Amino acid sequence: MLQVKYARKMSNQSATPATPLRVRPVPAFADNYIWLIEAPGRPGSVVAVDPGEAGPVETELDLTGSQLAAILLTHHHPDHIGGVTRLLERGSVPVIGPDDGRIPVRTRTARDGERCELPELGLAFDILAVPGHTLSHIAFWGHGALFCGDTLFSAGCGRMFEGTPVQMNASLSRLKNLPPDTAMYCGHEYTAANLKFALTVEPGNRAALDYQEKVRSLRDAGAPTLPSRMALERQVNPFLRCDEPAVRDAASARAGRRVDEAAEVFGVLRAWKDQFR
Ligand SMILES: [Zn+2]
Repeated sequence: MLQVKYARKMSNQSATPATPLRVRPVPAFADNYIWLIEAPGRPGSVVAVDPGEAGPVETELDLTGSQLAAILLTHHHPDHIGGVTRLLERGSVPVIGPDDGRIPVRTRTARDGERCELPELGLAFDILAVPGHTLSHIAFWGHGALFCGDTLFSAGCGRMFEGTPVQMNASLSRLKNLPPDTAMYCGHEYTAANLKFALTVEPGNRAALDYQEKVRSLRDAGAPTLPSRMALERQVNPFLRCDEPAVRDAASARAGRRVDEAAEVFGVLRAWKDQFR
């Protein structure tokens, strides 16, 4: 069985190597992405992030002759964990996920502040607790990449099923403060619809308008809009911009009263987006 090590982080700086990861998207269901990370330390081996269904992953493994070496899970929703049991029939691999009884397929628990190391694969990720979409949601950050499930999307964020606006806003602030060149791999292709909402909140946001053009041509070509970069998200994602005057004003107009505090602005935006078509 593959070795999984945990270390307590000693500082806020990630010590993982700067070599960029090679990551392939495997589209699943209507708009999910399962991410396959190529293991730098073991060519031909891959780590699957959030395999909600097994079929597309099996097809990709068979086509490329790759071996599944580990599975990372960000949260318990079926469209993120549903394929694990069938994938394990190909061979037992570590399944690393948050401390949550709703993830019975998990073999290793990853907790906030730990560094999860897969030394034989040449991989190491810092674990960030990011409650809000679900209470036990975690994100994996390492090698300049962030795997954040349904917490942060490009130009948007996940629905707040279990957390409070204060919790989810704090989780998003944590992600927003990662290095600007962090490559953000989220769980869904929602970018185009998210930008429509972003531009309703901030119609004059030049970066969002430019991004909308780029996203349109990517989607016309059938290409994913991901990964995104944290620097771009900070410019275009209204949920990361709750302290921007234009976003506060839009939230206040929507609420019909003055909202200034970032978590409150976030709560108004999230409720607005839930109604937005
Ligand atoms: Zn989810």
